[in-house]
Amino acid sequence: MISVSQAEQIILDLVQPLSETESIDLTLATGRILATEIVSKLDFPHWDNSAMDGYAVKFADVRSSTSKHPITLEVVEEIPAGYQPQREIQSGEAARIFTGAIVPTGADTIVMQEHTQRVQKNFVKIQVTPTARSFVRQRGAYARIGDPLLAAGTVLNPPEIAILAATGCCEVRVYRRPRVAILSTGDELVTPHQTLKPGQLVDSNQYALAAFVTQAGGTPICMGIVPDDRAKLTAAMSEAIASADFVFSTGGVSVGDYDYVEEILAELGGDIQIRSVAIKPGKPLTVAKFDRGAGVVYFGLPGNPVSALVGCWRFVRGAMAKLAGLPESRWQLNAIEAITTQDLTANGSRETYLWGKLALVDGRYHFSLADGSHSSANLINLAGTNALAIVPVDVTSIAAGTTVRVSIL
Ligand code: AMP
Ligand code: MG
Repeated sequence: MISVSQAEQIILDLVQPLSETESIDLTLATGRILATEIVSKLDFPHWDNSAMDGYAVKFADVRSSTSKHPITLEVVEEIPAGYQPQREIQSGEAARIFTGAIVPTGADTIVMQEHTQRVQKNFVKIQVTPTARSFVRQRGAYARIGDPLLAAGTVLNPPEIAILAATGCCEVRVYRRPRVAILSTGDELVTPHQTLKPGQLVDSNQYALAAFVTQAGGTPICMGIVPDDRAKLTAAMSEAIASADFVFSTGGVSVGDYDYVEEILAELGGDIQIRSVAIKPGKPLTVAKFDRGAGVVYFGLPGNPVSALVGCWRFVRGAMAKLAGLPESRWQLNAIEAITTQDLTANGSRETYLWGKLALVDGRYHFSLADGSHSSANLINLAGTNALAIVPVDVTSIAAGTTVRVSIL
């Protein structure tokens, strides 16, 4: 049995980032991953412009101005935002100017209106000694034409969307979404629409994994329930492998009489790289690679709902990030140190993941175990889980009040 970190590395090595891209409308690009570098088509700011409502002046005219001895200038133009100034400021002149408006030629300094007094109709008193070039946002100070703005692999969140809009990118080239086929194996499974007969169980995994895929930016292809029947399972697995970048199946990977997944993977020509991992919950994890297109990775996850999700969180998330085109920093586990509010226990034989909640208390992260049974079949107390505490191999207890490594979900 291999360790969690070995499994993580094997899985990451199996994944090739998607190379296919698509061009989409900027309004639909939130959360997508940029496939090309974006360079600036413009200078930012585009023009020298005013950071204040006030007056545009020549610094040389007002360098000795004070509240006691204000210098008076003639106001020769009014420049609102969006307006092209019509004249050059001469010595002794000023322009009334508003935030964002172009600083007229000849002026080099803005005096905010709070430090001025308008006299008669067309004159202004400067009642302060301004700093040279104050409140002028210089053309190109933030970025120049041709400067790189966003690197390939950037996730498009609100700031990046704003940048793309500002530089005139209405269509944006992003990586296509990863496609993930999901199938649930088990004679006992029914859909949530059906009424349970004795011994039956709702296939919650299909829904949980589809949500996981969606959250990770992928497109789930839900293939439904497949009974524990070799022929039917072979057909379904083969179809799944042919239609996606990743395949997730749940169940059928233990050592029971009806656990066929691993045998079928081998028959279908899969290169089985992982059979089980020293993790709790989720030990029976089967991972195989198929040479189809850029390569398909098959994840045979355990059937228990918690085991299936822990397997996704621990092993599939980084793999999805790599597949989707995210940079290497995003492939790793997002783990921090937190203080555990309860004693954590484990049997020490496998790396143990305990689910619960992380909260900030007085600026420090505190981890609290989910209430109730920590059985891998108990999906009920998974609700609200936002973190997994990690108890390493050979550690059997972590005392309340001490630190524990926690993976943020
Ligand atoms: P298996 O790995 O097939 O032995 O399944 C282990 C346990 O997980 C069994 O108790 C199953 O009933 C349960 N299980 C399997 N598949 C699902 C599923 N799709 N949704 C919810 N529970 C499941
Ligand atoms: Mg089963």
